[in-house]
Amino acid sequence: MIYLDNAATTKPAQDVLDTFVKVNQDLYFNPNSPHQAGLQAEQLLKQAKLQINQILNLEDRYDIIFTSGATESNNMALKGAAYNRKPYADEIIVSVLEHPSVLEVMRHLEEEGFKLRYVNVTKAGTIDLEHLKSLMNPNVGLVTCMHVNNITGQIQPIEAIAEILEAYPKAHFHVDAVQAIGKTPLHFNGVDSVSFSGHKFNGLKGQGLLLVRNIHNLEPVIHGGGQEYGLRSGTVNLPVDIAIVKALKHAVSEQEQLNSRLTEWNEDLRNFFKAYPGVHVNSPHQSAPHILNVGFDGVKGEVLVNAFSKQGIMLSTTSACSSKHSRLNEVLLAMGISESRIEGSIRISMGAITTESDIEGFKEAFKIVYEEMKELLKK
Ligand code: PLP
Repeated sequence: MIYLDNAATTKPAQDVLDTFVKVNQDLYFNPNSPHQAGLQAEQLLKQAKLQINQILNLEDRYDIIFTSGATESNNMALKGAAYNRKPYADEIIVSVLEHPSVLEVMRHLEEEGFKLRYVNVTKAGTIDLEHLKSLMNPNVGLVTCMHVNNITGQIQPIEAIAEILEAYPKAHFHVDAVQAIGKTPLHFNGVDSVSFSGHKFNGLKGQGLLLVRNIHNLEPVIHGGGQEYGLRSGTVNLPVDIAIVKALKHAVSEQEQLNSRLTEWNEDLRNFFKAYPGVHVNSPHQSAPHILNVGFDGVKGEVLVNAFSKQGIMLSTTSACSSKHSRLNEVLLAMGISESRIEGSIRISMGAITTESDIEGFKEAFKIVYEEMKELLKK
């Protein structure tokens, strides 16, 4: 089996699993318990948060909230910031590029009375900065933008957005960095909150982070015992939280090396596809190297995924979340890609466990699949 669906999820690293088991065995205590064992657990939790700031080179500028993943982190940050600002700034800016864990929150907030504004997307699949500037005004309380797009891999201009927002101090800036961490350099200057999911960087499923610059700017959306600064009530899951620090350490320290390996394979595949009429790379050139979205004009994405699967290649259509929905992908539509190419698009996503022989194996399988599909392709 050749696994090329790393944007959907990754294989947990062995020492992440070991850490999870060890903390469960040795330090299963509740960090909120007043006894010595509880205090020991609390100490470890505090250290873990300091370590995250150090690993990400953030100089303690962010409070860290451990969550179950980016869906929860996004919900917590977006609803929390929107509710906090509602009395004086109830406009929200978003684009169709976002993952459903952002877009569906936005639709929900709109139903609750917030004024939603969609910022345009350029043909290169990035936020249109001029349009963003024109939408900004003192009533904007929240702007959200992903760091790297999960469908195309396109890197968003986070620094430029932060610069535009400097003139609007009421606007909270949230960044979904799920597909960026460990793959491309991160930019957090001027960013108020950031989401991560552990299982996208060789951590565990059900493990995530929310980094917040000022916790007082978020209203809690989960109420209960008041853990995690009152923002995420519920008994702290210390083994899971310590394990994500391990995964994060690997992701950050190995990012440069991984990036250069993946860039090489990304280039290699782009060149390889050139020899096959009817096959087009949808991911813009400047994208993060782990994601390569490829359109087959005239064939259905689902048919391709099945054909590759028969050859032992695991990849997906546009994204795991939308693979099972038949709607045309809005990200690719916004980029002006033709409908038939969108319908026939697949996402190849590499990761830390990908090897040279996986790439060669994929190419061999591709030749077989192409032969099978060639008559259907519009060339
Ligand atoms: N944001 C992006 C960009 C993603 O790709 C994903 C998952 O695919 C998420 C958020 C949600 O992450 P999770 O499903 O781990 O909550």
